[in-house]
Amino acid sequence: MSFEIKSSGEAYDVIIVGSGAGGGMASKILSEAGLSVAVLEAGGDFDPAKEEDRTQLRPPWESPRRGGGTRIRPFGDFDQAIGGWDIEGEPYTRGEGTSFDWFRSRMVGGRTNHWGRISLRFGPNDFKRRSIDGMGDDWPIGYDELKPYYDKVDKLIGVFGSKEGIYNEPDGFFLPPPKPRLHELFIMKGAKKANMPVIPGRLSMLTRPINNERGVCFFCNQCNRACQAYADFSSGTCLIKPAMAKGKVDLYTMAMVRTVTTDDSGNATGVSYISKADMKEYKLRARVVVLGASACESARIMMNSKSKTHPNGVGNSSGMVGRYLHDSTGADRMGIMPDLIDRERYNEDGVGGMHVYTPWWLDNKKLDFARGYHIEYWGGMGMPSYGIGFSMDTMRKHLKDEFGNPSPNGGYGEGLKKDIRRLYGSTLGMSGRGESIPRFSNYCEIDNNVVDKYGIPVLKFHYKWTDQEIKQAKHMQDTFEEILTESGAVLLGKKPGADTMYGLAAPGRIIHEVGTTRMGNNASTSVLNSNCQAHDCKNLFVVDAGPFVSQADKNPTWTILALAWRTSDYIVDQLKKKNI
Ligand SMILES: Cc1cc2nc3c(=O)[nH]c(=O)nc-3n(C[C@H](O)[C@H](O)[C@H](O)COP(=O)(O)OP(=O)(O)OC[C@H]3O[C@@H](n4cnc5c(N)ncnc54)[C@H](O)[C@@H]3O)c2cc1C
Ligand code: SF4
Repeated sequence: MSFEIKSSGEAYDVIIVGSGAGGGMASKILSEAGLSVAVLEAGGDFDPAKEEDRTQLRPPWESPRRGGGTRIRPFGDFDQAIGGWDIEGEPYTRGEGTSFDWFRSRMVGGRTNHWGRISLRFGPNDFKRRSIDGMGDDWPIGYDELKPYYDKVDKLIGVFGSKEGIYNEPDGFFLPPPKPRLHELFIMKGAKKANMPVIPGRLSMLTRPINNERGVCFFCNQCNRACQAYADFSSGTCLIKPAMAKGKVDLYTMAMVRTVTTDDSGNATGVSYISKADMKEYKLRARVVVLGASACESARIMMNSKSKTHPNGVGNSSGMVGRYLHDSTGADRMGIMPDLIDRERYNEDGVGGMHVYTPWWLDNKKLDFARGYHIEYWGGMGMPSYGIGFSMDTMRKHLKDEFGNPSPNGGYGEGLKKDIRRLYGSTLGMSGRGESIPRFSNYCEIDNNVVDKYGIPVLKFHYKWTDQEIKQAKHMQDTFEEILTESGAVLLGKKPGADTMYGLAAPGRIIHEVGTTRMGNNASTSVLNSNCQAHDCKNLFVVDAGPFVSQADKNPTWTILALAWRTSDYIVDQLKKKNI
């Protein structure tokens, strides 16, 4: 059930803002504990199994743009991330000389409908980076405290992988991983020669059944379109929907939360939100408020929630809300594999993501930058869509006719089609995703001069990379070149140099933003305690990536899910003890 509007005055045990990874997990755990829950979601309802929402398996000709991207679907017309970098009527601003790009999805399930589903646990070292290299801060909790929750997330949601026994890349409860595909075998060969590990990927698609509600992956390679069989993890299909079927959960779609409301003693009493259906403001009441609107949006809601008891915004007496914002580092490179031109066709079906990856493998003591990165690989034969990577003008020089001369075909018609067929599936590439250093000087704040179309003050971002991240990107480029060359590929494009910060993606572009409401034991340097509870508002909690003290060289979502489960257990415990 979902409905657009609920009149003011309704009271719940818990209000959860946002239906993405964090909000979804909280809604399941809290409702299964018998609590009445309202989930408020700024986007519309979405279910990939409904014919009107399904884009999986649709051929390119069903799209007027043959699958090409649009403003609200920047990754392509069939991609299920409805929102993007630039949402109409929902602007954000940047401080002079700084950059940050903010990606948002406005739909039930948030960004988990499209995400890459790379589902890595943080390792023991990732929680104590300051103790190791003197930069940033340690988390107030360690791996041992989160491990039971990672285990439960693995079993509830399902993740494939392999037991490798790597200390800082902890093993979990894995489903069997799919076999490497042809392009991945080439990469494995090259990486082996370059002395780098390549191990099976760890992604949350079901390669075996885990329950009766979800199907098994049939290897269509289109997880970014969201799976009608629910074989890949999305918060909407795997958490929100089951929670609504079992528990007391009301889902309010098109409900844009403006503030957390508080009473005279500073406790949260609920939220106020704008209904996108009638552009009117409503209030809902609850005993506990849980923010899972994504790291930056939860910080925005808190900073906008000003009152006599919370003059800087709720939970912000330290002034730390918005501070320590950090995203993963990222850089890419691609090549063309001559051995894969004019190739035979094999069955290379697989999941919509990598079957193998390289975890961080080096010792920073021997390097000129802190922290590490992992490498994600791509290539192979997916369903053709708009563009095939680089232009034909560039690619044709790699084609030869039967006498070894430059191919005479091309231009248009039959010749062009023939060239595309010969080249299709011959390119491959890789992306580094690394850890940056969280800094006080990288932050978001409220821009008092700009409001969105709902009249809510927007965020202003201030973010600059430093030498640490730039040197890491340089190292990535050298590594990519080595792997591609050793694999037998011809490098495409110019190697990014110092003028482009070695291809280092702009802050925000990797879409792993974390740290804006960080946890800590000291209430003057952190926003939340180690249970993700606001230091100065006991019935307010955050379950997205805001609480992260540092990002690690892993993708963040498995940790969001584990933390959200742990926080939800704590809420149930505190309610039982009548502490909140
Ligand atoms: C292209 C892409 C690839 C990615 N790949 C990976 C990957 O492989 N592995 C990984 O770990 N992570 C990946 N991520 C990141 C991952 O999607 C996020 O870490 C995760 O979804 C964050 O979960 P969340 O619950 O914090 O926020 P979201 O998933 O963003 O959900 C927040 C929800 O809150 C709603 N909301 C926001 N503001 C309000 C408001 N004011 N009122 C009401 N509702 C509101 C939003 O509409 C949204 O539905 C990827 C992301 C993208 C876009
Ligand atoms: S690859 Fe598998 S999990 Fe992904 S959308 Fe296709 S069938 Fe579903």
